[in-house]
Amino acid sequence: MKKFAYIDATSVDTVPSLLGRRFGQAQVLAGGTDLVGELKEYIATPDRVVNLKSIPGLDYIRQEDDGLKIGPLTTLADIETSTLINDQYSVLQQAVSAIASPQIRNVGTIAGNICQRPRCWYYRSEDFDCLKNGGDTCYSVRGVNRYHAIIGGGPCYIVHPSDSAVALMSLNASVKIQGPRGPREEMLDDFFVLPELNIMRENGLRANEFVTEIIVPASKPNTKGIYVKVRERDAIDFAMASVAVTMTMSGNTCSEATVVLGGVAPVPWRVPDVEQFLQGKQITEDVASAAAEMALREADPMSDNSYKIEMTQNIVSQAILDLA
Ligand SMILES: Cc1cc2nc3c(=O)[nH]c(=O)nc-3n(C[C@H](O)[C@H](O)[C@H](O)COP(=O)(O)OP(=O)(O)OC[C@H]3O[C@@H](n4cnc5c(N)ncnc54)[C@H](O)[C@@H]3O)c2cc1C
Repeated sequence: MKKFAYIDATSVDTVPSLLGRRFGQAQVLAGGTDLVGELKEYIATPDRVVNLKSIPGLDYIRQEDDGLKIGPLTTLADIETSTLINDQYSVLQQAVSAIASPQIRNVGTIAGNICQRPRCWYYRSEDFDCLKNGGDTCYSVRGVNRYHAIIGGGPCYIVHPSDSAVALMSLNASVKIQGPRGPREEMLDDFFVLPELNIMRENGLRANEFVTEIIVPASKPNTKGIYVKVRERDAIDFAMASVAVTMTMSGNTCSEATVVLGGVAPVPWRVPDVEQFLQGKQITEDVASAAAEMALREADPMSDNSYKIEMTQNIVSQAILDLA
């Protein structure tokens, strides 16, 4: 671990100046379940680590007139056990319950989860100067790419690791961001960025910005959501493929749907074509299969990961039928 200065932040307003303008110079610390590993492995080598946990009042879950508000330091365990979230935003509760282990969920926070860095083994190894580590090669292209992206990849083929981000995007959530000029809000649809736009980052946060709240619009009547995740080890593992679907139903007819794929692309991958296709349809096995096929239409697998296409189609179809 490289030596760094450790600063306990005391207020939201002071964090941007503590972070500074250059990426990599400083990093915020929440639960530390991801960042501490990166520091130990020399993947992150900041001069300053800015602890957010010393700022009071950043862990909360509350329903307000314009929707659900979740504080950035709210632990995944608190989200998992929240009656409000379970009753009205159960797709989020299901996704969070599928994250890591109870111990990690006790410490890991919601903002840390959506801002965590990729798990690609080339990026996480000191031995590979991959594109994300400032090199000029994505080693997955000619190397082992079993867990890499089948959609939206290139020139780097990471998959986004966050389960909660997939569910939050299906709920049309946005994030509140604090920067030097005050707060701004961004839809999660726009927050995450593909490697072709920014190879070094997975989201649009500037170096001196951080997430201060997650905002989820109020849930609509007759709307249900489901999160389905496939992983190699049920006990604790990242998604090989996952899907979050929400559907507003009128009898057996879907009046509105959101469909977001996880574990297959460098960002949580929303499929608007499928959302439109489902609108106004009676949900049958044929409709669910057609939607599943459409969801993976853009897939362009690598040498070892074409299995993800059928796997993802199966869970998309299963999720749609389960909600009908
Ligand atoms: C063994 C293991 C298994 C795991 N399995 C899963 C899994 O199945 N699914 C899954 O989704 N995750 C999984 N994770 C990831 C885990 O959920 C995250 O490590 C955790 O949610 C991160 O939260 P944290 O508060 O500990 O973040 P930290 O480690 O403190 O921070 C993570 C990153 O986010 C940044 N950050 C933190 N807070 C903010 C903020 N407010 N604004 C901007 N940036 C911020 C930090 O600078 C850092 O880069 C696993 C982790 C481990 C170690």
